[in-house]
Amino acid sequence: MTDSPSTLEWRADVRDVLVVGADLAGAGPGDLLIRDGLFADPADARPDAHRVDARGLVALPGLVDLHTHLREPGREDAETVATGTVAAARGGFTAVLAMANTSPVTDTAEAAEHLLALALGGSVAAAQVVPVGAVSKGLAGEELAELGLMARSAARTRVFSDDGRCVADARLMRRALEYVRAFDGVVAQHAQDPRLAGPDACCHEGEVSGRLGLPGWPAVAEAGIVARDVGLAELTRSRLHVCHVSTAETVDVLRWAKQRGVAVTAEVTPHHLLLTVDELLGYDPTYKVNPPLRRAEDVAALREALADGTIDVVATDHAPHARHDKEHAFVDAASGMVGLETALGVVVETMVRPGALGWREVATRMSSGPAHIARLAEQGRPLVVGEPANLVLVDPERRTTVDRDASASLSRNNPWHGRDLPDPVVATWWRGRATYGR
Ligand SMILES: [Zn+2]
Repeated sequence: MTDSPSTLEWRADVRDVLVVGADLAGAGPGDLLIRDGLFADPADARPDAHRVDARGLVALPGLVDLHTHLREPGREDAETVATGTVAAARGGFTAVLAMANTSPVTDTAEAAEHLLALALGGSVAAAQVVPVGAVSKGLAGEELAELGLMARSAARTRVFSDDGRCVADARLMRRALEYVRAFDGVVAQHAQDPRLAGPDACCHEGEVSGRLGLPGWPAVAEAGIVARDVGLAELTRSRLHVCHVSTAETVDVLRWAKQRGVAVTAEVTPHHLLLTVDELLGYDPTYKVNPPLRRAEDVAALREALADGTIDVVATDHAPHARHDKEHAFVDAASGMVGLETALGVVVETMVRPGALGWREVATRMSSGPAHIARLAEQGRPLVVGEPANLVLVDPERRTTVDRDASASLSRNNPWHGRDLPDPVVATWWRGRATYGR
């Protein structure tokens, strides 16, 4: 991006932007004035304000992704803060939580502050980058990382996760939950019992895994860990977040946990809302992801849970990989898919068009909900005067055939390539700065 993220610099040369006639997150049409990084009263617009005709479009607060892999530092061949946040802006996101499994791992205050400095320096970031701290040193699952120091650092870390790996040791998980409670943090668990679904597990365990001869990843390996962690969250009166829920069994556990009043939240990825294990029949490693694609009945249960709030938010698990890591035989290929640019399109296709979610609920599931889980004060705010101007304009009718080569991401492991999908994002502003527009 050529715009500078420095508040003082962009204030000097950006005129007022007056967005006219957009449906304000399902509340009906209205105008928005963007001035000095905030929403101001549209009646105060200067005559030379830049007018954006948004009739027929929907205005949502900037989207927040709780689960992004930016790959920097360490794997800048797959993604960087710069490319990943441009992809985020194109997807309508104004903030991304950057997972800790980089090289080095974000397991110290210095590492968290280093990532923050990368994002703030040199005009590189097109969205707010929020470091996620590791739960355990080096993601090794043995000793707690510097949770308190990360929380007190300039990064103000509130979300902690060993994502990519499960915090399998129940005692370590208990201690992490106890620790983060002191500063209102949350432990985000990648639920995968390593004794039931080890590093080789790459296909939902069932008829397809048997037919293809691929190592199975049974549903109970997820639901079992989530049930245990719900018990630990209840015991410690602390906050648990469940990453990328993929099975109907886990949805049942979450429903039970919420009925008990346990402080548990959960996310679902766009790919688990639409794709099934049948995609694996061609052995295409593009569809290798962890947790794996599941059965059609899981997809239906996940959509129902997202609609009724049992699953709180959508998160992308954007996981870029360089070609040489992905282009292998299925069992040897890296796990993961890119997803920032297509996330809202998949949500429109699977939830909005069928009538399962309205725009108000989309704003909750993709903006205010994730911002609240991560305790981000300036994201997910309502579209009213005085709030930070984090905004995405959406065209509900627009569609496209996804082209992986048109992506801003450095990686091409795109499961939607060649598919006809909604292409809703028209423009994005982060703190009043245009980060994407067409
Ligand atoms: Zn994960």
